[in-house]
Amino acid sequence: MKITLLPSNTGPNAIASRQYATSFLINNHVAIDAGSLGYWRSPAEQAAVRHLFISHTHMDHVASLPIFLENVIGLADSPVVAYASAAVQECLRGDMFAGRLWANFLELTHDGKPFVILRTLESGQSVEVEGLRITAVAVNHTVPTVGYIIEEPGATVVIPSDTGPTEEIWQRAGRLQNLKAVFLEATFPNALAPLADITRHLTPSTFVSQMQKLPPSVRFLAVHLKANCAEEVAAELLGYGLPNLEIATFGTAYEF
Ligand SMILES: [Zn+2]
Ligand SMILES: [Zn+2]
Repeated sequence: MKITLLPSNTGPNAIASRQYATSFLINNHVAIDAGSLGYWRSPAEQAAVRHLFISHTHMDHVASLPIFLENVIGLADSPVVAYASAAVQECLRGDMFAGRLWANFLELTHDGKPFVILRTLESGQSVEVEGLRITAVAVNHTVPTVGYIIEEPGATVVIPSDTGPTEEIWQRAGRLQNLKAVFLEATFPNALAPLADITRHLTPSTFVSQMQKLPPSVRFLAVHLKANCAEEVAAELLGYGLPNLEIATFGTAYEF
């Protein structure tokens, strides 16, 4: 399984060094979240994504969703299929695609085809796409949010999305064969622990406490470091000296 954290900043330091928004590419045809997906590479390359999983509706995870859908329309034989909980779909219908922020791409058609096919995937449910089995599991965030357990023969990877300290996803992941890696958020430095608690995110300290819920053979890649304190968060994480903890780099196709 190949997992890439898509870059989300641009400019002279072309390989992005800060994460403003979140999207993961899984192999070639599956993405998790559309924070940066619609700003990534060319429309034709974006159109290779046939299945999109939306963890929650915070803007850093859906900001480029309207742009992505517009970019890829007509470039593939069939519309992209987006998986989301009913709560996420309600927000997309009522806010993002309600006709003021963007046109209603959930109902509009182009050449007789919809822009997107929405499918419901609730916590505890799984779907099989592109040779992957993907299971949604509710995590601990301020809006309804699911993380994802992604299984392929020989490798299981967990992407919990935005979460404070949580339990169920670790319990489920711990029971699975071939658990290789977790892409876990580390949003705020330890000094901002009260803010992390209120907004239900992790700090390096609570990140490490989550790691202890899985065996030390599992590789943890830190993502979602708040852009304006990313160095501080990275230094604190690496300061624990844990051999299975690293900071994920943008654009790298990690293979498991
Ligand atoms: Zn969030
Ligand atoms: Zn986020």
